[in-house]
Amino acid sequence: MLNIVLFGPPGAGKGTQSEKIQTKYNLIHLSTGDLFRKHLSEGTELGIEAQKFMDEGNLVPDRVVIGMVEEKIADNMDANGFIFDGFPRTIPQAESLDEMLSGRNIPIQVMVSLDVPDDELRTRLLLRGETSGRADDQNEEKINNRIRVYKEETIPVAEFYQKTGRYQSINGVGSIEDIFDRICSTIDSR
Ligand code: AMP
Repeated sequence: MLNIVLFGPPGAGKGTQSEKIQTKYNLIHLSTGDLFRKHLSEGTELGIEAQKFMDEGNLVPDRVVIGMVEEKIADNMDANGFIFDGFPRTIPQAESLDEMLSGRNIPIQVMVSLDVPDDELRTRLLLRGETSGRADDQNEEKINNRIRVYKEETIPVAEFYQKTGRYQSINGVGSIEDIFDRICSTIDSR
């Protein structure tokens, strides 16, 4: 199995690049944000629980996220591997993911981090908000909160992967194809 974490702040392009990686390497794209939005649109209990956190740009509690991911992994054990997008976002999530995967003997090989300056993130998210219909893309206060939450709660996850020699960062500014080429070179040279 090939298991990759695509890491970076909101608006870094994780969703766009994950779809391309999924197709090229024939992986399951596991985006916790997409899974939550699906639950929301279906009005499930989990979706209702997550909504108040998502609307403000805060993180959904770890136990909810971890349970949802565990189910998705268990349902896809015959896959070629996973591209994790937007997960893990906290140290307990990163530890749980390692436990879930090492218990199944399918560890994360590499975390690829997309580097994008804050100003560029704000511009991209506001632009996306014009068409995405996402409440959390539509005002500057929420966008700033998401960037703050990323710095305070999520950056330590990069250090967690750095310590175990699985962290690679690349420049996340440029054309979609150029960034994709950088990601593929990183994956292929792991
Ligand atoms: P995203 O689509 O990745 O930007 O996620 C949208 C929102 O879903 C986030 O702002 C959080 O409220 C929630 N969310 C997604 N993934 C996670 C995660 N791994 N941990 C906690 N909350 C998450």
